[in-house]
Amino acid sequence: MCVPGCHAAIHSKLNRRGLFKAGAAALAAGTLAGAASPARAKGIRVFNRVVDLTHTLTPDFPTYIPDWALGVEQLTTFAENGFNTRRYTMVEHCGTHIDAPIHFAAEGATVDEIPLDDLVLPLAVIDVRAQAAENPDYQLSPDDLAAWEAKHGDIPEGACIAMNSGWAAKAPGDGFANRDDEGVMHFPGFHVEAADMLMSERGALGLASDTLSLDHGASQTFDTHYAWLPSGRWGVECIAGLDDVPAVGATVVVATPKVGGGTGGNSRIMALV
Ligand SMILES: [Zn+2]
Repeated sequence: MCVPGCHAAIHSKLNRRGLFKAGAAALAAGTLAGAASPARAKGIRVFNRVVDLTHTLTPDFPTYIPDWALGVEQLTTFAENGFNTRRYTMVEHCGTHIDAPIHFAAEGATVDEIPLDDLVLPLAVIDVRAQAAENPDYQLSPDDLAAWEAKHGDIPEGACIAMNSGWAAKAPGDGFANRDDEGVMHFPGFHVEAADMLMSERGALGLASDTLSLDHGASQTFDTHYAWLPSGRWGVECIAGLDDVPAVGATVVVATPKVGGGTGGNSRIMALV
């Protein structure tokens, strides 16, 4: 059911961010009734599949600070109480999660304040698996972004840029945090120059890493966090499933918790392909 003006509203919304171009074109041409899928005909689905970009969170999932792991307590059981209930003890930055701007800024949006429009974005996936396999301290660079654009075209305006370093496959094993004998972690991240380029020249809104941090693991200065989050943008860490989405053309949906004042939170992240 679509009230008068609904199609126009949807059309303008879709066009505003350049999302769902096929669906918008179909709406404009009035061809939805002829679309292949019944769901598409209702104007609900303008994608073919949904890809989970989220790790299953368990108490053994590695965390940036070792004792930040998930805690789980059984409060009631079906056998004793007739219903099952558990309580989590969870640091906000645990498993696949979002960093809100306030996480690395004196003032900034908390997780509940991030506009929903900023959480549904075109997704661009930068593949640095070969570089990361050679060097676990690899930092995704402006050269990697330029190489991606030479192959795939311009990074979409207002996009989420995701780094696929191949690290997701290492979780939840020790290789994910990859701590050395001194406790220093070695995993890839975004170089601050890449973050700067994405902000100032590409209008990107989201940054997603398949490792435990936006910065590479050995960083002590968190340059990328301090450049990116105070600008009002969000980051995602421990994203998964990037092997199953195209380099460009998918839409990412970041379903965050809506906890007042939150600096981030474990999130369900999916790609509409
Ligand atoms: Zn975080």
